[in-house]
Amino acid sequence: MSDFSGLGLAPALLQALEAAGYTTPTPIQVQAIPPALSGRDVQGVAQTGTGKTAAFALPLLHRLLQAHPDGRHGRPAARSCRVLVLAPTRELAAQIAENVRAYAVNTPLSCALVFGGVPKPRQIRELARGVDVLVATPGRLLDLMSEGAVSLAAVQAWVLDEADHMLDLGFIEPIRRIGRHLPEQHQSLLFTATLPPEMAKLAAGLLHDPVKVAVAPQATPAERIAQSVLFVAPQEKRNVLRALLEHTRHGRTLVFTRTKHGADKVVKSLAAAGIEAAAIHGNKSQPQRERALAGFRDGSCPVLIATDIAARGIDVEGVTHVINFDLPNVAESYVHRIGRTARAGASGMAISLCGPEERPFLRDIEKLLHRKVPVASLPGQKQAA
Ligand code: AMP
Repeated sequence: MSDFSGLGLAPALLQALEAAGYTTPTPIQVQAIPPALSGRDVQGVAQTGTGKTAAFALPLLHRLLQAHPDGRHGRPAARSCRVLVLAPTRELAAQIAENVRAYAVNTPLSCALVFGGVPKPRQIRELARGVDVLVATPGRLLDLMSEGAVSLAAVQAWVLDEADHMLDLGFIEPIRRIGRHLPEQHQSLLFTATLPPEMAKLAAGLLHDPVKVAVAPQATPAERIAQSVLFVAPQEKRNVLRALLEHTRHGRTLVFTRTKHGADKVVKSLAAAGIEAAAIHGNKSQPQRERALAGFRDGSCPVLIATDIAARGIDVEGVTHVINFDLPNVAESYVHRIGRTARAGASGMAISLCGPEERPFLRDIEKLLHRKVPVASLPGQKQAA
Protein backbone atom coordinates (compact mmCIF):
# COMPACT_ATOMS: atom_id res chain seq x y z
CA MET A 1 0.00 0.00 0.00
CA SER A 2 1.27 3.44 -0.84
CA ASP A 3 1.54 6.33 1.58
CA PHE A 4 -1.57 7.72 -0.07
CA SER A 5 -3.76 5.24 1.78
CA GLY A 6 -3.28 7.26 4.98
CA LEU A 7 -5.11 10.16 3.37
CA GLY A 8 -8.39 8.27 3.35
CA LEU A 9 -8.93 8.25 -0.40
CA ALA A 10 -11.32 5.77 -2.02
CA PRO A 11 -9.77 2.41 -2.98
CA ALA A 12 -10.57 3.03 -6.67
CA LEU A 13 -8.43 6.16 -6.58
CA LEU A 14 -5.62 4.46 -4.65
CA GLN A 15 -5.49 1.73 -7.29
CA ALA A 16 -5.18 4.32 -10.04
CA LEU A 17 -2.35 6.05 -8.18
CA GLU A 18 -0.55 2.79 -7.76
CA ALA A 19 -0.91 2.08 -11.46
CA ALA A 20 0.45 5.56 -12.23
CA GLY A 21 3.49 4.79 -10.10
CA TYR A 22 2.79 7.36 -7.38
CA THR A 23 4.09 6.10 -4.08
CA THR A 24 4.40 9.16 -1.88
CA PRO A 25 2.17 12.23 -1.80
CA THR A 26 4.01 15.44 -2.63
CA PRO A 27 4.05 18.23 0.01
CA ILE A 28 1.19 20.14 -1.60
CA GLN A 29 -0.85 16.94 -1.69
CA VAL A 30 -0.14 16.22 1.96
CA GLN A 31 -1.32 19.70 2.86
CA ALA A 32 -4.25 20.22 0.52
CA ILE A 33 -5.93 16.82 0.28
CA PRO A 34 -7.22 16.53 3.89
CA PRO A 35 -8.96 19.93 4.04
CA ALA A 36 -10.33 19.54 0.51
CA LEU A 37 -11.65 16.08 1.42
CA SER A 38 -13.47 17.57 4.37
CA GLY A 39 -15.17 20.08 2.10
CA ARG A 40 -13.18 23.16 3.08
CA ASP A 41 -12.18 25.86 0.63
CA VAL A 42 -8.46 25.79 -0.12
CA GLN A 43 -6.02 28.41 -1.29
CA GLY A 44 -2.87 26.72 -2.56
CA VAL A 45 0.31 28.50 -3.52
CA ALA A 46 2.17 26.00 -5.66
CA GLN A 47 3.78 25.87 -9.04
CA THR A 48 3.33 23.39 -11.82
CA GLY A 49 5.44 20.35 -11.15
CA THR A 50 4.55 20.19 -7.48
CA GLY A 51 1.71 17.72 -7.98
CA LYS A 52 -1.01 20.34 -7.51
CA THR A 53 -3.35 18.75 -10.06
CA ALA A 54 -3.67 15.60 -8.00
CA ALA A 55 -3.89 17.78 -4.88
CA PHE A 56 -7.26 19.12 -6.04
CA ALA A 57 -8.44 16.33 -8.37
CA LEU A 58 -8.15 13.44 -5.90
CA PRO A 59 -10.21 14.90 -3.05
CA LEU A 60 -12.88 16.19 -5.44
CA LEU A 61 -13.16 12.82 -7.20
CA HIS A 62 -13.35 11.18 -3.78
CA ARG A 63 -16.20 13.46 -2.77
CA LEU A 64 -18.07 12.71 -5.99
CA LEU A 65 -17.71 8.99 -5.30
CA GLN A 66 -18.64 9.36 -1.67
CA ALA A 67 -21.88 11.09 -2.45
CA HIS A 68 -22.83 8.16 -4.65
CA PRO A 69 -20.63 5.20 -3.85
CA ASP A 70 -22.29 2.77 -6.23
CA GLY A 71 -22.05 5.28 -9.04
CA ARG A 72 -25.62 4.57 -10.10
CA HIS A 73 -27.31 7.45 -8.39
CA GLY A 74 -26.69 11.10 -8.77
CA ARG A 75 -25.43 10.92 -12.30
CA PRO A 76 -25.05 14.45 -13.55
CA ALA A 77 -28.16 15.87 -15.16
CA ALA A 78 -28.10 16.61 -18.88
CA ARG A 79 -26.03 19.67 -19.77
CA SER A 80 -24.60 20.05 -16.29
CA CYS A 81 -21.43 19.28 -14.39
CA ARG A 82 -20.69 18.56 -10.75
CA VAL A 83 -17.08 19.72 -10.54
CA LEU A 84 -15.72 22.55 -12.65
CA VAL A 85 -12.01 23.13 -13.19
CA LEU A 86 -10.93 26.37 -14.86
CA ALA A 87 -7.51 26.67 -16.43
CA PRO A 88 -5.90 29.55 -18.35
CA THR A 89 -4.71 27.67 -21.44
CA ARG A 90 -5.85 24.79 -23.57
CA GLU A 91 -2.58 22.97 -22.90
CA LEU A 92 -3.03 23.12 -19.16
CA ALA A 93 -6.73 22.25 -19.45
CA ALA A 94 -5.87 19.21 -21.57
CA GLN A 95 -3.21 18.11 -19.12
CA ILE A 96 -5.61 18.42 -16.18
CA ALA A 97 -8.31 16.45 -18.01
CA GLU A 98 -5.78 13.76 -18.84
CA ASN A 99 -4.81 13.49 -15.17
CA VAL A 100 -8.42 13.49 -13.97
CA ARG A 101 -9.26 10.68 -16.39
CA ALA A 102 -6.27 8.67 -15.24
CA TYR A 103 -7.20 9.07 -11.56
CA ALA A 104 -10.86 8.24 -12.28
CA VAL A 105 -10.12 5.26 -14.51
CA ASN A 106 -11.53 2.72 -12.03
CA THR A 107 -14.66 4.75 -11.30
CA PRO A 108 -17.84 5.50 -13.26
CA LEU A 109 -17.04 9.23 -13.13
CA SER A 110 -16.84 11.11 -16.43
CA CYS A 111 -14.70 14.06 -17.46
CA ALA A 112 -15.13 16.48 -20.35
CA LEU A 113 -12.69 19.04 -21.70
CA VAL A 114 -13.66 22.27 -23.47
CA PHE A 115 -11.44 25.06 -24.76
CA GLY A 116 -11.54 27.68 -27.46
CA GLY A 117 -10.04 27.66 -30.93
CA VAL A 118 -11.78 24.48 -32.04
CA PRO A 119 -15.35 23.88 -33.29
CA LYS A 120 -18.03 23.63 -30.65
CA PRO A 121 -20.36 20.84 -31.81
CA ARG A 122 -18.30 18.02 -30.38
CA GLN A 123 -17.97 19.79 -27.05
CA ILE A 124 -21.71 20.47 -27.00
CA ARG A 125 -22.41 16.79 -27.67
CA GLU A 126 -20.05 15.76 -24.90
CA LEU A 127 -21.85 18.00 -22.44
CA ALA A 128 -25.33 16.94 -23.53
CA ARG A 129 -25.41 13.88 -21.28
CA GLY A 130 -23.94 15.80 -18.35
CA VAL A 131 -20.49 15.19 -16.90
CA ASP A 132 -19.02 14.74 -13.47
CA VAL A 133 -15.92 16.84 -14.03
CA LEU A 134 -15.71 19.61 -16.60
CA VAL A 135 -12.29 21.09 -17.34
CA ALA A 136 -12.57 24.35 -19.25
CA THR A 137 -10.92 27.57 -20.28
CA PRO A 138 -13.06 30.54 -19.16
CA GLY A 139 -13.90 32.09 -22.54
CA ARG A 140 -15.20 28.93 -24.16
CA LEU A 141 -17.10 27.98 -21.04
CA LEU A 142 -18.97 31.30 -21.04
CA ASP A 143 -19.73 30.82 -24.72
CA LEU A 144 -21.17 27.37 -24.14
CA MET A 145 -23.14 28.59 -21.14
CA SER A 146 -24.71 31.40 -23.14
CA GLU A 147 -25.73 28.89 -25.79
CA GLY A 148 -27.41 26.74 -23.17
CA ALA A 149 -24.97 23.88 -23.72
CA VAL A 150 -24.08 23.70 -20.05
CA SER A 151 -25.44 24.99 -16.77
CA LEU A 152 -23.45 25.42 -13.57
CA ALA A 153 -26.47 25.15 -11.29
CA ALA A 154 -25.40 21.73 -9.99
CA VAL A 155 -21.72 22.47 -9.39
CA GLN A 156 -20.56 21.19 -6.01
CA ALA A 157 -17.00 22.40 -6.31
CA TRP A 158 -14.91 24.50 -8.62
CA VAL A 159 -11.18 24.88 -9.00
CA LEU A 160 -9.23 27.82 -10.37
CA ASP A 161 -5.90 26.49 -11.49
CA GLU A 162 -2.97 28.80 -12.20
CA ALA A 163 -5.21 31.62 -11.10
CA ASP A 164 -2.38 34.18 -11.33
CA HIS A 165 -1.88 33.24 -14.95
CA MET A 166 -5.61 33.67 -15.55
CA LEU A 167 -5.41 37.17 -14.09
CA ASP A 168 -2.45 37.99 -16.35
CA LEU A 169 -4.49 36.88 -19.32
CA GLY A 170 -7.34 39.20 -18.36
CA PHE A 171 -9.73 36.50 -17.20
CA ILE A 172 -10.73 38.23 -13.99
CA GLU A 173 -14.12 39.39 -15.30
CA PRO A 174 -14.93 36.04 -16.97
CA ILE A 175 -14.05 34.27 -13.72
CA ARG A 176 -16.33 36.55 -11.73
CA ARG A 177 -19.12 36.02 -14.26
CA ILE A 178 -18.70 32.26 -14.08
CA GLY A 179 -18.69 32.45 -10.28
CA ARG A 180 -22.06 34.18 -10.29
CA HIS A 181 -23.62 31.15 -12.01
CA LEU A 182 -22.60 28.73 -9.27
CA PRO A 183 -25.17 27.65 -6.69
CA GLU A 184 -24.89 29.36 -3.33
CA GLN A 185 -23.44 26.28 -1.63
CA HIS A 186 -20.21 25.24 -3.27
CA GLN A 187 -16.62 24.40 -2.44
CA SER A 188 -13.86 26.52 -3.98
CA LEU A 189 -10.22 25.65 -4.51
CA LEU A 190 -7.75 28.11 -5.90
CA PHE A 191 -4.19 27.36 -6.94
CA THR A 192 -1.68 29.97 -7.90
CA ALA A 193 2.09 30.06 -8.31
CA THR A 194 2.37 33.57 -6.92
CA LEU A 195 0.29 35.72 -4.62
CA PRO A 196 0.53 39.37 -5.69
CA PRO A 197 -1.99 41.76 -4.02
CA GLU A 198 -4.45 41.57 -6.90
CA MET A 199 -4.41 37.78 -6.68
CA ALA A 200 -4.87 37.84 -2.92
CA LYS A 201 -7.86 40.15 -3.39
CA LEU A 202 -9.48 37.84 -5.91
CA ALA A 203 -8.87 34.85 -3.65
CA ALA A 204 -10.36 36.66 -0.65
CA GLY A 205 -13.48 37.45 -2.67
CA LEU A 206 -13.97 33.93 -4.00
CA LEU A 207 -12.96 31.71 -1.10
CA HIS A 208 -14.89 31.23 2.10
CA ASP A 209 -12.71 30.80 5.19
CA PRO A 210 -10.08 28.94 3.18
CA VAL A 211 -7.36 26.68 4.48
CA LYS A 212 -4.18 28.25 3.14
CA VAL A 213 -1.43 25.93 2.02
CA ALA A 214 1.82 26.68 0.29
CA VAL A 215 4.89 24.91 -0.88
CA ALA A 216 7.78 27.31 -0.83
CA PRO A 217 10.23 26.73 -3.63
CA GLN A 218 13.03 24.87 -1.98
CA ALA A 219 16.04 27.14 -2.27
CA THR A 220 18.74 25.66 -0.13
CA PRO A 221 20.33 22.43 -1.25
CA ALA A 222 22.19 20.45 1.34
CA GLU A 223 25.62 21.86 2.07
CA ARG A 224 27.06 18.40 1.70
CA ILE A 225 26.46 18.37 -2.04
CA ALA A 226 29.52 19.39 -4.03
CA GLN A 227 28.17 21.22 -7.03
CA SER A 228 29.93 22.02 -10.27
CA VAL A 229 29.09 23.03 -13.80
CA LEU A 230 30.89 22.09 -16.99
CA PHE A 231 30.46 24.32 -20.01
CA VAL A 232 30.20 22.07 -23.01
CA ALA A 233 28.98 22.31 -26.59
CA PRO A 234 25.70 20.42 -27.04
CA GLN A 235 27.26 17.89 -29.41
CA GLU A 236 29.94 17.16 -26.81
CA LYS A 237 27.53 16.33 -24.02
CA ARG A 238 27.35 12.62 -24.71
CA ASN A 239 31.15 12.21 -24.74
CA VAL A 240 31.47 14.23 -21.57
CA LEU A 241 28.78 12.15 -19.88
CA ARG A 242 30.59 8.96 -20.84
CA ALA A 243 33.84 10.32 -19.42
CA LEU A 244 32.11 11.34 -16.20
CA LEU A 245 30.52 7.93 -15.81
CA GLU A 246 33.95 6.32 -16.09
CA HIS A 247 34.82 8.21 -12.91
CA THR A 248 31.60 7.50 -11.06
CA ARG A 249 31.57 3.80 -11.75
CA HIS A 250 31.59 2.72 -8.14
CA GLY A 251 28.57 4.69 -7.09
CA ARG A 252 24.99 5.22 -8.14
CA THR A 253 24.46 7.98 -10.65
CA LEU A 254 21.18 9.64 -11.51
CA VAL A 255 21.27 11.51 -14.83
CA PHE A 256 18.57 14.06 -15.60
CA THR A 257 17.37 15.03 -19.05
CA ARG A 258 14.72 17.60 -19.87
CA THR A 259 12.68 15.33 -22.14
CA LYS A 260 11.63 11.69 -22.37
CA HIS A 261 13.07 11.48 -25.84
CA GLY A 262 16.35 12.92 -24.57
CA ALA A 263 16.45 10.25 -21.86
CA ASP A 264 16.06 7.46 -24.41
CA LYS A 265 18.76 8.95 -26.62
CA VAL A 266 21.21 9.07 -23.73
CA VAL A 267 20.52 5.41 -22.87
CA LYS A 268 21.22 4.45 -26.49
CA SER A 269 24.44 6.41 -26.78
CA LEU A 270 25.70 4.96 -23.50
CA ALA A 271 24.78 1.45 -24.63
CA ALA A 272 26.83 2.03 -27.78
CA ALA A 273 29.78 2.84 -25.52
CA GLY A 274 29.23 -0.29 -23.46
CA ILE A 275 27.72 1.49 -20.45
CA GLU A 276 24.50 -0.03 -19.26
CA ALA A 277 21.85 2.45 -18.18
CA ALA A 278 18.08 2.41 -17.81
CA ALA A 279 15.64 5.23 -18.40
CA ILE A 280 12.62 6.06 -16.32
CA HIS A 281 10.00 8.44 -17.67
CA GLY A 282 6.31 8.85 -18.34
CA ASN A 283 6.27 6.71 -21.49
CA LYS A 284 7.61 3.68 -19.68
CA SER A 285 5.17 1.11 -18.37
CA GLN A 286 4.92 0.46 -14.66
CA PRO A 287 6.80 -2.88 -14.89
CA GLN A 288 9.56 -1.18 -16.91
CA ARG A 289 9.89 1.55 -14.31
CA GLU A 290 9.94 -0.94 -11.48
CA ARG A 291 12.62 -3.00 -13.19
CA ALA A 292 14.76 0.06 -13.79
CA LEU A 293 14.40 1.18 -10.20
CA ALA A 294 15.10 -2.28 -8.80
CA GLY A 295 18.30 -2.50 -10.85
CA PHE A 296 19.35 0.92 -9.65
CA ARG A 297 18.61 0.04 -6.04
CA ASP A 298 20.39 -3.30 -6.00
CA GLY A 299 23.35 -1.88 -7.90
CA SER A 300 23.04 -4.13 -10.95
CA CYS A 301 22.34 -1.08 -13.11
CA PRO A 302 24.02 1.84 -11.35
CA VAL A 303 23.13 4.49 -13.94
CA LEU A 304 19.56 5.73 -14.16
CA ILE A 305 18.40 8.35 -16.65
CA ALA A 306 15.30 10.24 -15.56
CA THR A 307 13.10 13.18 -16.37
CA ASP A 308 12.05 15.53 -13.58
CA ILE A 309 8.54 14.17 -13.43
CA ALA A 310 9.58 10.54 -13.35
CA ALA A 311 12.11 11.24 -10.62
CA ARG A 312 9.38 12.52 -8.33
CA GLY A 313 8.73 10.00 -5.63
CA ILE A 314 11.88 8.00 -6.35
CA ASP A 315 13.63 7.58 -3.08
CA VAL A 316 16.83 5.64 -3.49
CA GLU A 317 19.50 5.65 -0.86
CA GLY A 318 23.11 5.95 -1.75
CA VAL A 319 22.88 8.12 -4.87
CA THR A 320 26.47 9.33 -5.07
CA HIS A 321 26.18 11.52 -8.16
CA VAL A 322 23.53 13.55 -9.87
CA ILE A 323 24.40 14.63 -13.39
CA ASN A 324 22.29 17.21 -15.15
CA PHE A 325 22.68 16.24 -18.77
CA ASP A 326 20.37 19.17 -19.47
CA LEU A 327 19.83 22.03 -17.10
CA PRO A 328 16.23 22.36 -15.96
CA ASN A 329 14.43 25.48 -17.19
CA VAL A 330 12.79 25.90 -13.78
CA ALA A 331 15.42 26.78 -11.19
CA GLU A 332 13.64 25.00 -8.32
CA SER A 333 13.89 21.73 -10.25
CA TYR A 334 17.67 21.99 -9.95
CA VAL A 335 17.38 21.97 -6.19
CA HIS A 336 15.01 19.01 -6.29
CA ARG A 337 17.26 17.12 -8.67
CA ILE A 338 20.48 17.51 -6.77
CA GLY A 339 18.67 16.81 -3.52
CA ARG A 340 18.49 13.19 -4.68
CA THR A 341 22.06 12.76 -3.60
CA ALA A 342 23.59 13.36 -0.19
CA ARG A 343 20.57 11.89 1.54
CA ALA A 344 20.62 10.75 5.12
CA GLY A 345 23.87 12.41 6.03
CA ALA A 346 25.88 11.06 3.11
CA SER A 347 27.73 13.43 0.83
CA GLY A 348 27.23 13.63 -2.89
CA MET A 349 28.23 15.33 -6.08
CA ALA A 350 26.07 17.23 -8.53
CA ILE A 351 27.55 17.97 -11.94
CA SER A 352 25.71 20.00 -14.55
CA LEU A 353 26.46 20.09 -18.26
CA CYS A 354 25.61 23.53 -19.55
CA GLY A 355 25.43 24.33 -23.27
CA PRO A 356 25.61 27.93 -24.51
CA GLU A 357 21.83 28.11 -24.83
CA GLU A 358 21.36 27.00 -21.25
CA ARG A 359 23.32 29.87 -19.74
CA PRO A 360 20.13 31.76 -18.83
CA PHE A 361 18.90 28.69 -16.91
CA LEU A 362 22.19 28.61 -15.02
CA ARG A 363 21.81 32.29 -14.17
CA ASP A 364 18.31 31.63 -12.78
CA ILE A 365 19.63 28.75 -10.70
CA GLU A 366 22.46 30.85 -9.31
CA LYS A 367 20.02 33.61 -8.49
CA LEU A 368 17.86 31.16 -6.56
CA LEU A 369 20.88 29.70 -4.74
CA HIS A 370 22.36 33.16 -4.07
CA ARG A 371 25.70 31.82 -5.16
CA LYS A 372 27.74 30.80 -8.18
CA VAL A 373 28.03 27.16 -9.10
CA PRO A 374 31.78 26.44 -9.34
CA VAL A 375 33.01 25.81 -12.88
CA ALA A 376 34.90 22.58 -13.43
CA SER A 377 36.50 21.02 -16.45
CA LEU A 378 37.29 17.50 -17.48
CA PRO A 379 40.95 16.64 -17.72
CA GLY A 380 41.97 17.61 -21.23
CA GLN A 381 38.72 19.40 -21.95
CA LYS A 382 38.85 22.80 -23.54
CA GLN A 383 36.42 25.19 -21.93
CA ALA A 384 33.63 26.08 -24.33
CA ALA A 385 33.27 29.53 -22.87
P1 AMP B 1 1.47 18.94 -11.56
O1 AMP B 1 2.21 19.85 -10.63
O2 AMP B 1 0.10 18.65 -11.12
O3 AMP B 1 1.56 19.41 -12.98
O4 AMP B 1 2.21 17.51 -11.49
C1 AMP B 1 3.48 17.29 -12.00
C2 AMP B 1 3.70 15.85 -12.40
O5 AMP B 1 3.94 15.06 -11.26
C3 AMP B 1 2.55 15.21 -13.14
O6 AMP B 1 3.07 14.56 -14.28
C4 AMP B 1 1.99 14.19 -12.18
O7 AMP B 1 1.55 13.04 -12.88
C5 AMP B 1 3.18 13.86 -11.31
N1 AMP B 1 2.78 13.58 -9.93
C6 AMP B 1 1.89 14.26 -9.18
N2 AMP B 1 1.84 13.77 -7.95
C7 AMP B 1 2.72 12.77 -7.88
C8 AMP B 1 3.14 11.87 -6.85
N3 AMP B 1 2.62 11.92 -5.62
N4 AMP B 1 4.09 10.96 -7.16
C9 AMP B 1 4.61 10.90 -8.39
N5 AMP B 1 4.27 11.72 -9.41
C10 AMP B 1 3.35 12.65 -9.16
